[in-house]
Amino acid sequence: MRYPRAIQELITHFNQLPGVGPKTALRYAFFVLQNPAEFAQKFAAAIATIHTATELCSVCYGIDERNPCTICSDPRRDQATLCVVADDQDRHAIETTNEYRGLYHVLGGVLAPLEGMTPETLRIKELLARLGAQKPKEIVLAFNPDMDGESTVLALARILKPQGVRISRLARGLPIGADLEYTDQVTLGDALRGRREV
Ligand SMILES: [Zn+2]
Repeated sequence: MRYPRAIQELITHFNQLPGVGPKTALRYAFFVLQNPAEFAQKFAAAIATIHTATELCSVCYGIDERNPCTICSDPRRDQATLCVVADDQDRHAIETTNEYRGLYHVLGGVLAPLEGMTPETLRIKELLARLGAQKPKEIVLAFNPDMDGESTVLALARILKPQGVRISRLARGLPIGADLEYTDQVTLGDALRGRREV
């Protein structure tokens, strides 16, 4: 027996979410169904507006409600320091430590050639252009302490070195395989403060 089409459709969508298998998708669909209609309406509205209510910053490629983003347009931020991160979640994680007052550059992923992430698919060109225009004094490479993060740090250091800018990376001490976005603020703040030159 098949579920009514509306339920089936919702299951299909939940099933496309990362980490959600068919069983969980089914549970989610029934959770929505068993809650008051108002819940489903608010949930649907939140999903429907996520694209129209957010902007990609044309300077740092972070996500915000405005372009340029709140950080890029804040004159109190230290314009001489640029922190390169893989994605917006990592930018957010570093922001919540309150240890960093510079600007960001969101690379759009990490180097993982087997998954099609090459220097050409990342925003390296854009990073070099910013270096030329803004002349930062220090670039902080803040990537997950795992294999892809490590090879990204090394590749970026190689590309950026000739630009004559100081390049630093997060201090060791983050557990291997950790995710910056899930690392507690104190540990990530320590890693930022203790950053060392590459
Ligand atoms: Zn920005």
